[in-house]
Amino acid sequence: MKICIIGAGASGMMAALAASERKTNIVTVFERQQRAGKKLSVTGNGRCNLTNTNASVTYYHGQSPEFAAFALSSFGPEEVRAYFKKLGLLTTEEYGGRVYPLSNSANSVLDVLRLRAVSCEIDIKTSCEAEIITKTAEGFKVTAGAETETFDRVIVACGGPAGRKAGGTESGIKLLKSLGHSCTALYPSLVQIRTDPVYPRALKGIKADCRISLFSCSEKRAETEGELLFTDSGVSGPAVFDISRQVSVGSGDDLYLMLDFLKDSSAEEVTEMIRQRIELMPELPCSDLLTGTVHNRLGRMVLKYSAIAQEKKISELSSSDVKKIAYSIKNFILKVAGTESFDNAQVTAGGIRTSEFDTETMESRIVPGLYACGEVLDIDGDCGGFNLQWAWASGRLAGLSASAGK
Ligand SMILES: Cc1cc2nc3c(=O)[nH]c(=O)nc-3n(C[C@H](O)[C@H](O)[C@H](O)COP(=O)(O)OP(=O)(O)OC[C@H]3O[C@@H](n4cnc5c(N)ncnc54)[C@H](O)[C@@H]3O)c2cc1C
Repeated sequence: MKICIIGAGASGMMAALAASERKTNIVTVFERQQRAGKKLSVTGNGRCNLTNTNASVTYYHGQSPEFAAFALSSFGPEEVRAYFKKLGLLTTEEYGGRVYPLSNSANSVLDVLRLRAVSCEIDIKTSCEAEIITKTAEGFKVTAGAETETFDRVIVACGGPAGRKAGGTESGIKLLKSLGHSCTALYPSLVQIRTDPVYPRALKGIKADCRISLFSCSEKRAETEGELLFTDSGVSGPAVFDISRQVSVGSGDDLYLMLDFLKDSSAEEVTEMIRQRIELMPELPCSDLLTGTVHNRLGRMVLKYSAIAQEKKISELSSSDVKKIAYSIKNFILKVAGTESFDNAQVTAGGIRTSEFDTETMESRIVPGLYACGEVLDIDGDCGGFNLQWAWASGRLAGLSASAGK
C-alpha cells in the first residue's frame, strides 16, 4: 500500500514510522520546510517536554476533548517513553510529570525519529508543500509543486498556525476543508497575555511565584498557580500559559488578572507581618517595607500601586495604609488587553472538527482513506508536554490505522 503523510512534524513522523511497521507499505512524507521536525527542535525551550506522565483527557480541550481518549489510552506516556527508549532516547521525569530527554536537547528527539525513518526507508521529501489533494476512484492524487503522485491513503499531519516562526501554518486546515471538512474558530493558546503595560514594563524580567485569577467583571473564569514572568507588554511564563486559552477564547470580554504574590499567607498574616516590621524597624523608608518579602522591585511597585510615597518612614503608615498594602500584595490587578498572536503561541486552540473523524482510527467519516492527526484537529492540551503527547498518540493511531485499512 502507498501511504502519503503530509507534514514531517511530531505527529507526521510518528504516523510515518507506524505506517512503515508493515514492511510492504511504501511510505512518503511531504514537508514544506527545508528540514523535517523544525518545530520539534524548538520545543520546551530547546529541551523538548515530550510527554507528561499524568496525561489523560482532562488536560485536553476542544469541542469534544473526549475524542482524544482512545488514542491517549492506546499510546499513553508510558508507551511513548518505552517507544523512544527503544529508539535509543533516554528520558527523565521532572516537576509536574513533565518528561524531557536525558540529553536535555530537543534535537535528540528529532534525531532518533530521523534515524529510524532512514532505517525504515521512509522517503521524506523536504521543501515540498502539498497544495492539492484529490480523491479518485482508486485512492488519492497529491500535488506538491510541479509533481502529482498517487497514493492509496493520505494522512494530514500539518499542525496549525501556532508558532509561525517554526513553520506553523493553516495549510493543512485548507487542504482538509477542500475535501469537505469544517473547522472551528482558531485561537492562539499557551501564549503571553497582553495587559495594561505600565506595571509589567517596569518589572520586565522579574519572575514571581503567584496565584493568578482571571476575572470577567466579578465572575472568576480561571485560576492557576506557578511562575509568572513580567514582560514589556504583559505577563508570560508557565502559569500564564495555563490560563491564556481562556483569555484568547474570551477576547472581547472585559477581562482582568488578579495576582496574589503571597499565596501561602492570608491577608491577615501579611498585615501582621508588615506590622511586625514597622515595630522592629520604624526608621525604614517605605521603599524597604517589603524588602525580603518579595523581589525588591516588585515590593516598590506594590507601594506605588497602593499610592504610598516611597520616601515616607514606615512608622508614619496608618493602619489603613498597612491594610491597603497587604490587600495590594494579594489582589494586584492587571487589565487584560488580549494575547500575543499565533506567531508567538505554542499551540492552536480549535481546528478541524473531530466529529468528522473516527476516534478509534483517526479516519475521516467524510472521505474514506483520508486520516488526520495532531494539532490540525480541534484538540489542544495544557502546558507541560500534553501537546506532543497528543501528536505522538494520534500520529501513531493514524499511521497504524491507515496501514491496516480498518
Ligand atoms: C515554541 C514552541 C514550543 C513548544 N514546546 C512544547 C513542549 O515542550 N511540549 C509540548 O508538548 N508541546 C510543545 N509545543 C507544541 C507542539 O510543538 C505541537 O503541539 C506539536 O508539534 C504539534 O505536532 P503536529 O505534528 O500536529 O504539527 P507540527 O509539529 O507543527 O508539524 C506540522 C508539519 O507539517 C508541515 N506542513 C504544514 N503544511 C504542509 C503542507 N501543505 N505540505 C507539507 N508540509 C506541511 C509543517 O511545516 C510542519 O513541519 C511547542 C510549540 C512551540 C511553537
